[in-house]
Amino acid sequence: MKKKYYLIMAIAAFCAVSCKSYSYKDASAPLEKRVEDLLARMTLEEKVGQMNQFVGLDMMEQTKAKKISRKEMVQGDEFAYYPGYPADTIISMIKAGLVGSFLHVQTLKEANELQRWAMESRLGIPILFGIDAIHGNAFCPDNTVYPTNIGLASSFDPQMAYKIARQTAREMRAMNMHWTFNPNIEVARDARWGRCGETFGEDPYLVGLMGAETVKGYQGALGGDDVPVNESVIACIKHLAGGSQPVNGTNCAPAEITERTLRDVFFPPYVEGIKAGALSLMPSHNDIGGIPCHSSKWLLTDVLRGEWGFEGFVISDWKDLEKLTSAHRTAVDNKDAFYQGIMAGIDMHMHGPEWNTYVCELVREGKITEKRIDESVRRILAAKFRLGLFENPYADPEKSMEVRLCQKHRQTALEAARKSIVLLKNEDVLPLSKETGMKVMVTGINADHINMMGDWVSYQHPDNYTTIIEGLREVAPNNDYVYVDQGAYPTKMTMEKVREAARKARYCDLNIVVAGDYMHRGMNSKMKTAGENADRSDINLPGLQHELIRQIAASGKPTVLILVSGRPLSIEWEAENIPAIVEAWEPGMYGGQAVAEVLFGDVNPSAKLAMSFPRSAGHIHTYYNHKSMHYYHPYRVTSSKPLWHFGHGLSYTQFEYSEPVLDCTELKQNGTLNVTVNVRNVGGRDGEEIVQMYIRDEKAQVARPVKELKGFRRVFVKAGESVAVQMTVTPEMLSFYGLEMKPVVEPGEFTVMVGTSSEDSKLKKAKFTYID
Ligand code: BGC
Repeated sequence: MKKKYYLIMAIAAFCAVSCKSYSYKDASAPLEKRVEDLLARMTLEEKVGQMNQFVGLDMMEQTKAKKISRKEMVQGDEFAYYPGYPADTIISMIKAGLVGSFLHVQTLKEANELQRWAMESRLGIPILFGIDAIHGNAFCPDNTVYPTNIGLASSFDPQMAYKIARQTAREMRAMNMHWTFNPNIEVARDARWGRCGETFGEDPYLVGLMGAETVKGYQGALGGDDVPVNESVIACIKHLAGGSQPVNGTNCAPAEITERTLRDVFFPPYVEGIKAGALSLMPSHNDIGGIPCHSSKWLLTDVLRGEWGFEGFVISDWKDLEKLTSAHRTAVDNKDAFYQGIMAGIDMHMHGPEWNTYVCELVREGKITEKRIDESVRRILAAKFRLGLFENPYADPEKSMEVRLCQKHRQTALEAARKSIVLLKNEDVLPLSKETGMKVMVTGINADHINMMGDWVSYQHPDNYTTIIEGLREVAPNNDYVYVDQGAYPTKMTMEKVREAARKARYCDLNIVVAGDYMHRGMNSKMKTAGENADRSDINLPGLQHELIRQIAASGKPTVLILVSGRPLSIEWEAENIPAIVEAWEPGMYGGQAVAEVLFGDVNPSAKLAMSFPRSAGHIHTYYNHKSMHYYHPYRVTSSKPLWHFGHGLSYTQFEYSEPVLDCTELKQNGTLNVTVNVRNVGGRDGEEIVQMYIRDEKAQVARPVKELKGFRRVFVKAGESVAVQMTVTPEMLSFYGLEMKPVVEPGEFTVMVGTSSEDSKLKKAKFTYID
């Protein structure tokens, strides 16, 4: 009897242990239970390992082969290896469960290989692969490359942002990548900063909308959308905060931004991103008013979690904790830096082995509690469970190319490019005729180069993208094209090639110059004039490009200027002297085709500028939502006006707006007010118009902007027809941070403006009153 009893007890105990020991592996168990179960089994070393990231082994090899100095490696943000940590050591660390994540793994083969070693570890916790999939998973070869965010924002099409993010997530998972360091939702008001192309431009409302749709698109099933989990990835909203407005325009430089401006301008997109469910966030490189963002508890805990309720995890940016020691000099050493970062709210470290040693020491010394470590590890494990990585740690190489670069995704890349190209100026030159064969000279640094796709693109096979000259040849084959190659690097242009183009221009019927910046990483980063860590003190056309355009225009033949850039450029002379100018931004893999379709009228351009064009670097900050005193005393000698306003963009047809009609003139608390305007297409072609609604607070307790975008609609209007467009104003739209630094909506008079751009003369106005 006694024997039987012991046997039953033993079986029960065995069952209890075995059931418990498998519960984190039980896909049907609730997420919290899986997390807690796994956490309870982990050693301190394993926990701290989960909080750490390394660059991929191939990237380490590539870096070593480059033979760059340690200094260059420390200062740069592109390459890395870890002296004293050869690949074998890192592989042993993975097998010991001491690495939670990798970044910059660029092939499926490597991702699956690293994952296999992780699955051999004691607890079999899968690796989370992060990558900068900024506009498509373009950082890895053979993926669809979409226009960059600045172009996407100019399409004013948030559904397009969702679609692109959704497709990117599918392509990422097909490469076993789970987490993209995008969207960059910094408000960009300073065009000297090389990263404007990564952003959605200067308007907090537009940035917030595009950012939120991007987050939803990436996260798919993780946000409750009806799509497969293994086609969903984690989004990372970045960089919090102020990195887009460094004091001197250079990446990482301090930001001197007041709390009010942070809250009114730079923070709102983060609030939208978090509402959309963003599961990770990255702080910015800079300090704000002396406090580095990476060690700011106010930013990363009080505001982020306390005020906004963020529940995801925070990843430090590339070696930015170490920069607390080496650059900001607010930490005595890296151990102190890690301490400061963790206490401020960092959950994961990008990247390198020192972390494992120092953080474990900090816990053992009692400086950081294991409870604090557990908080971070819970967030990271939850992400891995949500992604289904414990069940599906690998991606199938056989199926990978069924998804990547598939026809549907390519078509989206083309559509997005068509919708993001802005026609800045047109004096009866465009659209060009396809029928009459012309002799067309094409020249300029961006006419025939992968650079056209923008930053964050690695090698892509030339068959997978269309350069601008290729696009022209395909779309209008009747012309005789004369190509004068200027090389890809603006700073290496020669007068000899400039003169050659100028000579040939005289014998051509039309000249097309494709100018702009050079932002392609990988090939020769030192040549970059834009993109990450490539900022400029000027925002003109670098190198001999202005000279090239001037000499070609002097031929007296019609000249079309196409800009390929991630930022507005100060082209005052060109704006006055060149009859047709197109801003193509960084239009992605079908940029060449889309540009050609716009030039030859197959596509009627519809995009609007997501960033104002300043006349010169001295005109920075030129942004539309400035305060009333911004130009109280206008500049002497030069104009204070932008070259082109935020929201500007021409079409091959014209739209006429009626006066706006309000359904009431008093907006009450909890009420709404509808604004209706008739938009008539008075030109000869069908077209799409982006109808914009701005609001101005006439009197307030603090100085407020002259106008703020609060709504827009993209509408299709047939030639000769009109459509009624209605937009709704809510009290929430009138909110701002008041004297007490709290959100307020003040009773009083407001002006609502509707029109085709933010330029005052293009807006129709009506007044209403807000009543408390
Ligand atoms: C950039 C981040 C990026 C990270 C990883 C940093 O230099 O600032 O935006 O996600 O590198 O590539």
